[in-house]
Amino acid sequence: MRIWVNGGLRDADDARLSVLDHGLTVGDGIFETVRTGEGKPFALTRHLDRLTRSARGLGLPDPDLDEVRRAATAVIDANPVPLGRLRITYTGGLSPLGSDRGTAGPSLVVALDGVSRRPDTTAVITVPWTRNERGALTGLKTTSYAENVVALARARERGASEALFPNTTGRLCEGTGSNVFVVLDGRIHTPPVASGCLAGITRALAVEWTGAEETDLPMEVLAEADEIFLTSTLRDIQAVHRVDDRQLAPEPGPVTAKAMRIFDERAGNDLDP
Ligand code: PLP
Repeated sequence: MRIWVNGGLRDADDARLSVLDHGLTVGDGIFETVRTGEGKPFALTRHLDRLTRSARGLGLPDPDLDEVRRAATAVIDANPVPLGRLRITYTGGLSPLGSDRGTAGPSLVVALDGVSRRPDTTAVITVPWTRNERGALTGLKTTSYAENVVALARARERGASEALFPNTTGRLCEGTGSNVFVVLDGRIHTPPVASGCLAGITRALAVEWTGAEETDLPMEVLAEADEIFLTSTLRDIQAVHRVDDRQLAPEPGPVTAKAMRIFDERAGNDLDP
């Protein structure tokens, strides 16, 4: 595997980043995951906009987007796969061991691995832990993901592929790596960004393309919704067939299936919507 690290393409085995990088020692970093297909990234401009917003939120210097685009192209070309997960990581760089950032400047790592197409439906669980809708990091795509690792491990133990969080007021928020949508009386709803969820790029496209409404929703909506689906970069739109002990239809319901068709068509016609 060939990886971009701080200015150049390297073999993964020879790639070097300081072991004192602040991203590693304190999770001081941000990232983007971009889907690639047939050698092309999807929605790269939106991902780079969010990377810049996350950098500003964390007080990191703006990433050099020309370099990030060059790196993405180089890594995609060097690792040909039919369907890929391109990961852009941007961290505080070499720093002292405490919380202060060093003066060495940020690190940029761009890597890619091949992935398989996700199934059309999946099972999810809810977790008792909360997303903080008013934290310093709310809405930023930081590398501080350990809470998501724990919740996802809980989901795997229960035969599910995603865990959904409430926020601190008990409202529906998001998954460990996805946004959530529900269908009520034929209309699609998703929690607003003010719930504390990440402003998912797939979420924004799904709202734009299907007319889904942003609605503050109680967790209990998961017990009543006619259909539930997730959105994320690697899922696009994925129907939920089980939430905790509640079974839903084994196939995507009619509203979700239509949203999936619209998404496939629009995303197929425009790689940088
Ligand atoms: N919420 C969280 C916490 C995420 O990590 C992600 C993506 O990884 C999403 C939502 C979905 O966002 P996107 O559609 O931009 O992939």
